[in-house]
Amino acid sequence: MKKTTDILIIGAGPSGMVAAGYLNQHNISIQVVEKQKFPRFTIGESLIPRCMDNFEEAGLLDILKSRKYQKKYGARFIKKDKVAEFDFSKKFGIGWDWTWQVPRADFDYSLAREIESRGVDISYNTKVISVNRSNELWTVDLVNQAGNTSTIQCKFIIDASGNGRVLAKQLDLEAPPKVDGHSSIFTHIKEESRPQGKEGELITFEIIDHETWFWYIPFSDGTTSLGFVGPDFWIDQFSESTEVSFGEMLKETSYYQERFDHYDFLFTPVKLRNIAKNVTTTHGEGFVLTGNSAEFLDPVFSSGVAFATESGLLAAKLSLRQLRGVKVNWDLEYAEYINRGVEVFSTYVKEWYSGKLQDIFFFPEQDPAIKEQICSVLAGYVWDKSNPFVRNHARRLKNLHQLIKPKKIL
Ligand code: FAD
Repeated sequence: MKKTTDILIIGAGPSGMVAAGYLNQHNISIQVVEKQKFPRFTIGESLIPRCMDNFEEAGLLDILKSRKYQKKYGARFIKKDKVAEFDFSKKFGIGWDWTWQVPRADFDYSLAREIESRGVDISYNTKVISVNRSNELWTVDLVNQAGNTSTIQCKFIIDASGNGRVLAKQLDLEAPPKVDGHSSIFTHIKEESRPQGKEGELITFEIIDHETWFWYIPFSDGTTSLGFVGPDFWIDQFSESTEVSFGEMLKETSYYQERFDHYDFLFTPVKLRNIAKNVTTTHGEGFVLTGNSAEFLDPVFSSGVAFATESGLLAAKLSLRQLRGVKVNWDLEYAEYINRGVEVFSTYVKEWYSGKLQDIFFFPEQDPAIKEQICSVLAGYVWDKSNPFVRNHARRLKNLHQLIKPKKIL
């Protein structure tokens, strides 16, 4: 017998779990299918404050608070002897002043267990292999790890499959990314001791050159995430073995160079190529793409989970309304809204890699009001039109750079 559900959620990452958390509060039948067995490692460990609003609305904040993750109060950027620090409590407008840095295996598993404890079925080790739509119903074929196939019928699909990109592939929606040609390599270590001071409560970016950077993300259990992001050619110029190449790359840093050279990696460094993704459309008849299954820009401002949860939550609200017979304008209410935030972040990401945003960050005579407005963007409040650096993001950054250029000390 075919299983049926109102809404099928593909993927149990943060995007899918926020969607499930919201829908489960609203008396509608949902089913989650997840390709992997949890807990499982994934990357995307430093959150930004906007995520907290989304977890709260999906009823998931209390379970996350109980996990005692490392609190994160801001971001620090280091370039040789220059340091730029953003403190989320000193940002423009309203919003959370802090968030967490999370080992994703535990974080995603905690969210999924909480959703299951509320009665939602998550089929692990089960992946979507094909989707077909007729008479306003989807027929979705699944296969589990043992190779057994099954079918589920649903009215609506929320595709939160991340890099699985299920509907992008099935419905031929792949598009060129906005920021292209970047790769990453990362691992975890167990730090013997952390230096005193604020480092443990921030994400730190060390800039190697304007397109290449290193991250330091401390967790509350004493483990630390280390990683590099750079153009493909930069990452590829080192030894083939990721274990060897990670050590070689560490030598290119100056601030962190010696601190980690004697540590064992907790897992062989993972290399990911072409990390940015995009699609031609994020929605269509009976489906919506959320999180990374729709778009991923770049890790530089840690915006991935914020967009994954923002889009997962909005997709849940709109699909619920549609299934209750109220018309939804998906272009306006979903695509345009999400895209407004993406456009703000993509301006900041592009100007980061052009070097202009780095000039702005490291400019010695910071205007506190401007810094607060930029800080609010870094905290993920990219829909706050009262912020001039959101409302006129491209023009404001361009003008500010023009203003400081003659005085720039680098
Ligand atoms: P995911 O978390 O990837 O979850 C998708 C789930 O779908 C997975 O569990 C997968 O197993 C499942 N799935 C896939 N295919 C199928 C299928 N066929 N059937 C069923 N299930 C399926 N973001 C941040 O916020 N902060 C950071 O510091 C950060 N750093 C990053 C560093 C790097 C190098 C990269 C590449 C990304 C980084 N990100 C970061 C982005 C972050 O990883 C993602 O944006 C985020 O995990 C997206 O969440 P999601 O729920 O959309 O997808």
